[in-house]
Amino acid sequence: MAYWMNHYGYDVTVVEIGLQPRRGGTPIDVRGEALDCARRMGVLTAIKEAKLPTKGLKFMNAHNEVQSTMLVEEIGAITLDDTEVRRDDLVDILYAKVKNSVHYKFANRITQIEQTSENVSVTFKDESTGTYDFVVGADGIHSGVRKLVFGKEEQFTHFLNFYFSVFTVDGSLGEQNYAHMYNTPDNMATVYFYNQDSADTLLAFRASGKITFDRYNIQQQKQIVTDAFKGVGWKVPQLLKALKQADNFYLDQGCQIKMPSWTNGRVVLIGDAAYAPAFPTGMGSTLAMHGATILADAMAECDNHETAFEIYNETFRPTVEKLQGTVYDGMSFVLPETDEKIYERNKIGR
Ligand SMILES: Cc1cc2nc3c(=O)[nH]c(=O)nc-3n(C[C@H](O)[C@H](O)[C@H](O)COP(=O)(O)OP(=O)(O)OC[C@H]3O[C@@H](n4cnc5c(N)ncnc54)[C@H](O)[C@@H]3O)c2cc1C
Repeated sequence: MAYWMNHYGYDVTVVEIGLQPRRGGTPIDVRGEALDCARRMGVLTAIKEAKLPTKGLKFMNAHNEVQSTMLVEEIGAITLDDTEVRRDDLVDILYAKVKNSVHYKFANRITQIEQTSENVSVTFKDESTGTYDFVVGADGIHSGVRKLVFGKEEQFTHFLNFYFSVFTVDGSLGEQNYAHMYNTPDNMATVYFYNQDSADTLLAFRASGKITFDRYNIQQQKQIVTDAFKGVGWKVPQLLKALKQADNFYLDQGCQIKMPSWTNGRVVLIGDAAYAPAFPTGMGSTLAMHGATILADAMAECDNHETAFEIYNETFRPTVEKLQGTVYDGMSFVLPETDEKIYERNKIGR
């Protein structure tokens, strides 16, 4: 969005809460429409070059024996153009594209937004202020802009009864260019290992209700995951040992964001802030890039932002709803609830 607004002549400021672009996460997919968005931005080649040499996914048992394998070319939902990259690489590519043409305010966030029909006045955490034509909230699932302008997070969050954590472990726990997935009813551990020393780990578990935790208390969060995986076999004890040391640990609830409108006056939301689809869909980045491009195109085509926002709200909604609807299939795949369902899921790879 920053790229396109700058491209259309706006003076863009990006506000990022982190000290630098936020890194971390397991590999993510750039698919379908997002590939075209990347092509139009001139970053498709860089994304293709960062494509991971993924061969496939292996379902493991407690003795670390392969139950079955799904090779990438056999996974029906994936087409040859779809590109799996490290989240860090995608962040770096997009940041490199804009960093010299837009202003960045790192270690900052918006604390107050006041708007008139003419402009938006913004106060930042460092107490500086600014007046802008528009504010675009692209600040993820716990969006601060959404809270300030649209209201409490709870009213837009649809909890999917699972939690997931990501962190890196030593590469020796994985197999080069494969993901290894191990399930017990309600728990899933996956280790992704591609071409570097460390492997990305995803631990997910189903929960009947919400677990209260402090978003800034990492020790508390690590304990929650450790408790949820107590007694689980395979390499989980080693993964939990690595989790203790991990300095890039991330935990969140599995949820989707659903909103009746993504715009309010001169404020507009995109990406996870507006319509997070949850990781089992494998479409968070694709949806974010696609949505931003639709909004940017509408802004370029229309004489006024009201019409552009209307087009964005109306034309993109069917895509979002269709995609968010696929999450339950994704959850059955990554988090089968019984031994029988795990067995059935593993048969897909045979
Ligand atoms: C650390 C991390 C790891 C992730 N790992 C995975 C994964 O393994 N698999 C997967 O499918 N998806 C993952 N995601 C989500 C995935 O990145 C998004 O679904 C997708 O890329 C859509 O991106 P987005 O830009 O809307 O949101 P995000 O990628 O979440 O980016 C939001 C950005 O806003 C910043 N931010 C947050 N709050 C504020 C605030 N108040 N003020 C200013 N800045 C703020 C964040 O630091 C971040 O840079 C992860 C996200 C994060 C942040």
